Amino acid sequence: PAAPLVAEDVPKGLKEVSNIIAVSSCKGGVGKSTIAVNLAYSLAGMGARVGIFDADVYGPSLPTMVSPELRVLQMEAETKAIIPTEYMGVKLVSFGFAGQTSAIMRGPMVSGVINQLLTTTEWGQLDYLVIDMPPGTGDIQLTLCQVVPITAAVIVTTPQKLAFIDVAKGVQMFSRLKVPSIAVVENMCYFEGDGKRYYPFGQGSGAQVIRQFGIPNLFELPIRPELSAAGDSGKPEVVEDPQGEVARIFSEIGVCV
Ligand code: ADP
Repeated sequence: PAAPLVAEDVPKGLKEVSNIIAVSSCKGGVGKSTIAVNLAYSLAGMGARVGIFDADVYGPSLPTMVSPELRVLQMEAETKAIIPTEYMGVKLVSFGFAGQTSAIMRGPMVSGVINQLLTTTEWGQLDYLVIDMPPGTGDIQLTLCQVVPITAAVIVTTPQKLAFIDVAKGVQMFSRLKVPSIAVVENMCYFEGDGKRYYPFGQGSGAQVIRQFGIPNLFELPIRPELSAAGDSGKPEVVEDPQGEVARIFSEIGVCV
């Protein structure tokens, strides 16, 4: 097996961050950003100091999913450090707050931009920094993980059979980096109607995930129009409806990170 790739020195702006949680998926569109943002606000709701780093430079979703008053990042004049913007007490950094909405760049450039944004930010004291990883398990993701010491990874997938292969790729990447994958979130698993649960993509791959990859936690998240609507409105579902079913699931995920 290849030698482990481990982050070296902790960048200055991240020295007071206790836990860095990477939310990762193999493909785009599976709900990774939705889960990263709701997890972050769920942790904040439990009293933790939280930041979100949106590392998806190709399609940054954070500016849509939250609506801070200040929609551009500030730079400290003396140190040139980036100061995160904030919404409901959670610190936010996204390429989408850097004056651009998406980028046309080649891989190495993308890595450079992500790493610079992440490491030149003055995050201050945080209990959790949630990183919304770019989708995939390639070089961009690997270099990001080498720049900052990730505490744990949460892997997002959908319940289709093929998605199983995606989980394997994610777990393998993180294990090479000596990062434990602590939870798998199966998104858009079921919907509810007439008091019943329907599983449009089938059921049962969850148990296999736990067995095969030794991941201790598996969460099923339903298809919920409210989750999508909240994401588009700029106010995450867990903030919108803190007593609801979705908030309950996220607080369980929060407890395991
Ligand atoms: P990714 O970050 O993986 O590209 P997003 O979080 O941007 O995915 O989600 C893609 C779309 O699917 C968004 O419009 C989002 O609101 C919607 N979505 C995600 N999860 C759910 C869900 N469980 N129920 C309904 N809509 C969802």
